[in-house]
Amino acid sequence: MALSRVAVIGAGTMGAGIAQVMAQHDREVTLVDVSDEALAKGMGGIEKSLSRFASKGKIEEDALPQILGRIDTATTLEGCAGSDLVIEAVPEDLGLKTKILGEVGGLVSVETILASNTSSISITTLGEKSGCPERFIGMHFMNPVPVSTLVEVIRSPASSDEVAEAVIDLAKELGKVPVSANDSPGFVSNRVLMPMINEAAICLMEGVAEAEAIDDIMKLGMAHPMGPLALADLIGVDVCLDIMEVLHHDFDNDKYCPCPLLRQMVADGHLGRKTGQGFHHYD
Ligand code: NAD
Repeated sequence: MALSRVAVIGAGTMGAGIAQVMAQHDREVTLVDVSDEALAKGMGGIEKSLSRFASKGKIEEDALPQILGRIDTATTLEGCAGSDLVIEAVPEDLGLKTKILGEVGGLVSVETILASNTSSISITTLGEKSGCPERFIGMHFMNPVPVSTLVEVIRSPASSDEVAEAVIDLAKELGKVPVSANDSPGFVSNRVLMPMINEAAICLMEGVAEAEAIDDIMKLGMAHPMGPLALADLIGVDVCLDIMEVLHHDFDNDKYCPCPLLRQMVADGHLGRKTGQGFHHYD
């Protein structure tokens, strides 16, 4: 099996989902985070998600222990050694990502593919910082990873054809549909999505409508499966703010200026579903 050993750095919303899907497709996974608490939270989320799949008959109940048994955890980046593929899924912070990727580049073999799940940061820059740009690529999974179909694949000019083919083949094996985009801030997905979410937040801030109404209008009027504010809560209001900051900075264009309400919500710890309070409330 190609790319049979996979390390995922970051056990948050995305890293846990990526680790789950990899394990469901027979990969041996090492999930890396900074603390046992973060890893326990990530593993707890994976168990819950797998149980939901089992209760809906999408996987066999007795497959759960086997899938979970394929996921190992580590609190240091040494956990990445021996992997065929390392996927970085830590917060959307250029400094943090480049530090981690630089370290990982020195820990893995010269054959290991390095990928980032970044939402918006330059794959070219991250590849250069990793020290192995030809083996570096963007593998942008969507949230929630276990049920979302798309993987946006972003090559830098240095990414090799072999690396691009390998991650495209893997995405297909995972039951996903890989779609390629060029390396540009926010790629396609977040360059289009985030300004919409930002504008929805501006509508709320200016009192154009209540959060519920904004979401209803976009669901009923534009046939969106979920309103933009509910989607921001699912993504994480902090993640949305981080992405807007990257778009604003990298394009140097005020049309991407983050809505002050996003900043206020992040300062107040109202990050969406993960904290129970965002644009909507979650019990
Ligand atoms: P998150 O905040 O839920 O999780 C990030 C995890 O990284 C946390 O568990 C944190 O403890 C861990 N972490 C922080 N520093 C670390 C370090 N030095 N070493 C190891 N782990 C560390 O974030 P997320 O929503 O999962 O986002 C992760 C990445 O995926 C970001 O780049 C984000 O832009 C991108 N992304 C997010 C979404 C989304 O909907 N949330 C969708 C696609 C892509």
